[in-house]
Amino acid sequence: MSYRTEEVAYVQPAVQASAPAAQQQRSTAEYRALDAAHHIHPFSDMGALNRSGSRVIVKAEGVYLWDSDGNKVIDGMAGLWCVNVGYGRKELADAAYKQMQELPFYNTFFKTTHPPVIELSALLAELAPAPFNHFFYCNSGSEGNDTVLRIVHHYWAAQGKQSKKVVISRKNGYHGSTIAGGTLGGMGYMHEQMPSKVENIVHIDQPYFFGEAQGNLTPEEFALARAQQLEAKILEIGADNVAAFIGEPFQGAGGVIFPASTYWPEIQRICRKYDILLVADEVIGGFGRTGEWFAHQHFGFEPDLITLAKGLTSGYVPMGAVGLHDRVAKVIIEGGDFNHGLTYSGHPVAAAVAVANLKLLRDEKIVERVKTDTGPYFQKKLRDTFANHPIIGEISGAGLVAGLQLAQDPQARKRFANGGDVGTICRDFCFNGNLIMRATGDRMLLSPPLVINKLEIDEIVTKAKKAIDATAQQLGIS
Ligand SMILES: *Cc1c(COP(=O)(O)O)cnc(C)c1O
Repeated sequence: MSYRTEEVAYVQPAVQASAPAAQQQRSTAEYRALDAAHHIHPFSDMGALNRSGSRVIVKAEGVYLWDSDGNKVIDGMAGLWCVNVGYGRKELADAAYKQMQELPFYNTFFKTTHPPVIELSALLAELAPAPFNHFFYCNSGSEGNDTVLRIVHHYWAAQGKQSKKVVISRKNGYHGSTIAGGTLGGMGYMHEQMPSKVENIVHIDQPYFFGEAQGNLTPEEFALARAQQLEAKILEIGADNVAAFIGEPFQGAGGVIFPASTYWPEIQRICRKYDILLVADEVIGGFGRTGEWFAHQHFGFEPDLITLAKGLTSGYVPMGAVGLHDRVAKVIIEGGDFNHGLTYSGHPVAAAVAVANLKLLRDEKIVERVKTDTGPYFQKKLRDTFANHPIIGEISGAGLVAGLQLAQDPQARKRFANGGDVGTICRDFCFNGNLIMRATGDRMLLSPPLVINKLEIDEIVTKAKKAIDATAQQLGIS
């Protein structure tokens, strides 16, 4: 059954001075009716969403979005952790337009290549840490992690170690939503809807101090204990059967969980000791989020593979990639046919946009600014603003990413019994206050575009404070 546009009653949109000239051809009511009639949203309860109606975003500039009613909203999430250079950068649009005219598509399967993918690979090799000189392309972070699995298995098979098959991941990690990405991730609610998971993937506990530390452990002791679960798991399975460990340097979707400094060095030690590949999923952490180009540099470890997406193109077009450390690349290059690829691997338009995006990040010193200026300002402002707040238990983060833990009793690290509901209440207050701040359970997340200035940071923190105060008030806590 199709829903005909003519049947939708036309409602004159409210005209507001702040609305920029957008190509808005329909009223909000009309958009909502059509969206409800024909569009299934990701990670959504469609029945509930269709009853309440989606917010229609029609235009964006810098760190601001405008909806179809003309409301101006500050984007504390950079879209979905991806719009690192901010909205409305003409350089990226020009790169796409020029490339579409010159060579909109050609494949890289059959002994062919093209300038954009060559330029992008060379540029990534320049920007990534020294041992990362080779890149394989795909269209998303999920496909990146599927590709990681393919590379890991080929790496061991090419060396005659076929028994090394098991990949160890973490509960509450996020690695995408293909079947492999969803299995690698540790989100129980996703696993429940996946009766056929990918084999040979197991999970250990996450380094989530506020939520899971028992007794008097310090954050450093707790993180070390969580890292040592990897060693225990390897010994249980047998090192000859373990191929790799994968983790996000800091968990993004899982709540911006930053492990203490003891965690990653111990993970790296264990991986080296048992000859296990170490994979850093840099889909959120990559391209400046923490103030370093890659989040593993922030935590001071050296992975064997890195998964890239999101900030690679600042989300202007889809693209993902996997970076291979020289020691992995060598084996893959000399390992014969690698039977993996996607029609759009190294897509010329995506590659051209990625090059333009990375040049902006580099030449405008955006990453350096996050490290030395806006990042420290953002972190301090959050910590000063929420020190001793009655429902904020912890602030995690570095650079321009932060997690705010909502808690019943911050001092006692006591969480709300209905934490997810509290997060939703707070998120709705943010939304109504024209701030996009995401809730993961009882943690509020911020990850604004990296081009944000201090005034805009002040605006985000002021609006977040207002929403969190309103949440506390609604709960009767002050
Ligand atoms: C978003 C994300 C992915 C999945 O990327 P998609 O482009 O949505 O497939 C994978 N890993 C991490 C860490 C992510 O945040």
